Amino acid sequence: MTNSSGDIIIIGAGIAGLSAGCYAQMNGYHTEIFEMHNLPGGLCTAWNRQGYVFDGCIHYLFGSGKDQPFHRMWEELGAVQGRKFIDHDEFIRVVAPDGKTLIVYTNPDRLEHHLLDLSPVDSKLIKQFCAGIWDFTEFDMSLLQQKPKNLMNGGDWLRLSGKMLPFLGLLNKWGNISAAEFAKLFHDPFLRSAIPQMFAWTSIPMMVGMSLLAYMYNKNAGFPVGASLEFARSLEKRYLELGGKIHYSAQVERILVEDNRAVGVRLYNNQEYYARRVISACDGRGTIFNLLGGKYLNKKIKKLYDGHLPLHSQLQVSLGVNRDLSTEPHWVTYLLEKPIAIAGEKRYEIGVKHYCFDPSLAPAEKSVMMVMLDTPYDYWQRIYGRSIYDAEQIQESQILIDQLEQFYPGIKADIEFVDVATPVSYERYTGNWQGSNCGWLLTKETMGLMVAGIEKKLPGLDNFYAIGQWVEPGGSVPIVAMSGRNIIQQICHEDKQEFISLNPIAQ
Ligand SMILES: Cc1cc2nc3c(=O)[nH]c(=O)nc-3n(C[C@H](O)[C@H](O)[C@H](O)COP(=O)(O)OP(=O)(O)OC[C@H]3O[C@@H](n4cnc5c(N)ncnc54)[C@H](O)[C@@H]3O)c2cc1C
Repeated sequence: MTNSSGDIIIIGAGIAGLSAGCYAQMNGYHTEIFEMHNLPGGLCTAWNRQGYVFDGCIHYLFGSGKDQPFHRMWEELGAVQGRKFIDHDEFIRVVAPDGKTLIVYTNPDRLEHHLLDLSPVDSKLIKQFCAGIWDFTEFDMSLLQQKPKNLMNGGDWLRLSGKMLPFLGLLNKWGNISAAEFAKLFHDPFLRSAIPQMFAWTSIPMMVGMSLLAYMYNKNAGFPVGASLEFARSLEKRYLELGGKIHYSAQVERILVEDNRAVGVRLYNNQEYYARRVISACDGRGTIFNLLGGKYLNKKIKKLYDGHLPLHSQLQVSLGVNRDLSTEPHWVTYLLEKPIAIAGEKRYEIGVKHYCFDPSLAPAEKSVMMVMLDTPYDYWQRIYGRSIYDAEQIQESQILIDQLEQFYPGIKADIEFVDVATPVSYERYTGNWQGSNCGWLLTKETMGLMVAGIEKKLPGLDNFYAIGQWVEPGGSVPIVAMSGRNIIQQICHEDKQEFISLNPIAQ
């Protein structure tokens, strides 16, 4: 059956797709979103089990602070009005087997004093590091995303250069060193082992971690109370209020092309929908190689997807615990005395979180607890569909729970519910290649790609656009929302109409 879907069809109701839908509606385009799942949000989600809400996404949301970078966009998307955010004084703790603890305070002065107490001999390095965090408190990460680069004129570039110039030295210094490399500059053996874990992944460029702390200090990287799905729902609400239409449980099988122009989509139920333009806001690899049959490629695109770039696949064990953990630090990485084997790999540390800072996520006096590890996708993919997959999930979660027992004595008996998400769960749930939770992982190697940006069009195909975490390396909720905003600026430009963004408060 054939249907008309107006001006723009959007594939995927993740944050990128919802954002594109909102801005398109603001600009007078009639849009319809096709989402394979029965919920909005994509990776930005949470799930409810026996009274516990397990968050699957946002640890920190850039743009949570009023008048701060990215905030205006969230206002336009109706995502922050009336929403409470939790701002933490400490980002994470890293604890050695002997109990020695690095507390990653979000206040740079407090962090400096603490680090100097831990290792006076590293004072020069510590002072440089904390001064760098102060400098990043002034840096506006949204500058590079404000307008599609191909639409920027001489004046735009001049203004951008003027704003970026004071930070070039800073970006160069801290963008070219990973947390793991930075750690090696320390003399103190504890800090050498703890620093790689201070931003949750060891290959993270220091500038990314330092900007995160700076934004946390500025109260612009809070946790949205109610968790990630509630957050995504606010974008869904805004989109519907702007007159958009979402088809849920509607998986796109094929992007329809006529004369090398994208003209619509066919769903797995054989329904066809036609529109003047198609935006893909879902997995990049699936879009290019499956939905379009690998027909619109060049060398650059083939290289992107040849497997040489880093992705991030994770194992998340979520626990409903009959114990109030609110007096415990909310996020700790424990360095292990003896490594444990998880998914065929030796692990020397485990990260543990609880969410008691948001009481709406667990019944009174109880807690949500989470263990997160990066894990090889191949391992889980090999065993998926065999009974060993379920057994393995149980076994790995038991190994982790046994570890937890050492750090939180008696916790095993308090656990009421266990939920395991492997990279295959993320892949099945959202369609993302290898279950990657950020598209390409942000490292020193992929930073250039992030700054330069990835093409949003495919060679030889008209009326088609790609947005979201596979064209914005490093992903993240604000960056993919910007990606949706930018593509509508691009489309308005093509149609020679002025781009409008509406703030519902001001309306
Ligand atoms: C554990 C975890 C922690 C994270 N922490 C943070 C954080 O603290 N801060 C932050 O900013 N970001 C964080 N992120 C990253 C962030 O969630 C993602 O980068 C971002 O949500 C990606 O959005 P997207 O719209 O590009 O893609 P997705 O969320 O993947 O959305 C794509 C949508 O398309 C749908 N879809 C796929 N294929 C089809 C098809 N064929 N037909 C129809 N629909 C289809 C999917 O179901 C999905 O809804 C985290 C992610 C994870 C998983």
